[in-house]
Amino acid sequence: MNVYDSTRMADVMAPLGYTPTDEAAKADMVILNTCHIREKAAEKVYAELGRLRRLQEDKMKSGGRMILAVAGCVAQAEGEELLRRAPFVDLLFGPQTYHRLPRMVAMVGQTAKAVVDTDFPAERKFDRLPETADAGAAAAFLTVQEGCDKFCAFCVVPYTRGAEYSRPAAAILAEARRLAVAGVCEITLLGQNVNCYHGTSPDGAEWRLGRLIRELSEIEGVARIRYTTSYPADMDEELIATHRDVPQLMPFLHLPVQSGSDKILTAMNRRHKVDDYRRLADQLRAARPDLALSSDFIVGFPGETDDDFKATVQLIKDVGFVQAYSFKFSPRPGTPAAALEARIAEDVKAERLASLQELLKGQQQAFNEDCIGQILPVLLERRGRHSGQMVGRSPYMQPVHVTAPRSLFGIIANLRIEAGSANSLAGVLTTAVDETCSERAFA
Ligand code: SAH
Repeated sequence: MNVYDSTRMADVMAPLGYTPTDEAAKADMVILNTCHIREKAAEKVYAELGRLRRLQEDKMKSGGRMILAVAGCVAQAEGEELLRRAPFVDLLFGPQTYHRLPRMVAMVGQTAKAVVDTDFPAERKFDRLPETADAGAAAAFLTVQEGCDKFCAFCVVPYTRGAEYSRPAAAILAEARRLAVAGVCEITLLGQNVNCYHGTSPDGAEWRLGRLIRELSEIEGVARIRYTTSYPADMDEELIATHRDVPQLMPFLHLPVQSGSDKILTAMNRRHKVDDYRRLADQLRAARPDLALSSDFIVGFPGETDDDFKATVQLIKDVGFVQAYSFKFSPRPGTPAAALEARIAEDVKAERLASLQELLKGQQQAFNEDCIGQILPVLLERRGRHSGQMVGRSPYMQPVHVTAPRSLFGIIANLRIEAGSANSLAGVLTTAVDETCSERAFA
């Protein structure tokens, strides 16, 4: 979602003559869009600010000026502390106020103090943002839902992103149509808790996520739809059926379970038990037999015993996750879990994380190796590191490398998979290249 927000910030600044650049040293303004989810992510901000401070000074010495802004959830959660540690920051704003960026920038330098806007304003930023610009991409993110009311004991999201909010369906459909016209053929719907989506429909009723996906699949040019991230207890029947009925909905689902122990899930204030999750995985696979599942895991949550951890390992094997993100529990200020006393020692956490990641890597590799010999439709979305190489995504989110002409950018090509490692696949084109092909999907 930070990637989406950053693109939208660029859209907001475009009318003022700002364009994105890859070179921080030359920039008139640098915006660090930050994440507060774990301590490690938040600490990175300070390291990066030290580096940018030097660029800002160099610019000043040569008679120029660089506005240094910190955006996102670290700004939202640690505003005061951040300005104390980094007094050279000119501008600080949270995830809900960046539509006001032009006004904030105009105020920079008017007083000695930094300009700060970490409100949760009554007006919605989505109603104030300009239309999305053509980013020249084949795949794009689209925020449909934001914030969270679940209050998992470990999580800062309800405090940094705010309460759950679903954008009206008409605004989402309009944004998706603009993306499709600009050549985007894969859209990933975003939300901290995306499957709790319940937005106002064009006729004033309410649509849940399944219905929204069905409507999006009607848009010409939208060949692929994904959504992330989902909360297991919000997975309703309509959405499961959508996996069965809508071929554009890709057969890969990120569905964080966090732990395989009921005791830990309860302590985390998750609203699902391990068996609920297993049942859900079965229902999803009954709807879409080739569905690949991915997840998030936290190891070393306070009170986690060896048996609790073993239960997580067992769940990973049983469900057969093909990919996952896993983290050591990180106590976050202000969350209930940070106050729990049964802390797990660092070395135990590290050991559990290493063995969990080893297992997950093995499953990921086995899944990738199973793809060898198959023909997979791959959306070619960027240049590879080697000359003449392109990289795309399979339906199952695997990056696929292929030797292919640049003219195939943004096309879904059928590739025969010839090699697979833990992190990616390599394939070859199977059909003649039809450059006149007006439909992006090409068989
Ligand atoms: N549903 C959200 C979750 C974001 S956080 C989304 O994906 O948008 C992503 C993952 O970070 C969570 O699923 C959880 O596994 C991990 N996480 C969140 N808070 C954490 C903490 N305090 N310590 C360790 N990991 C955490």
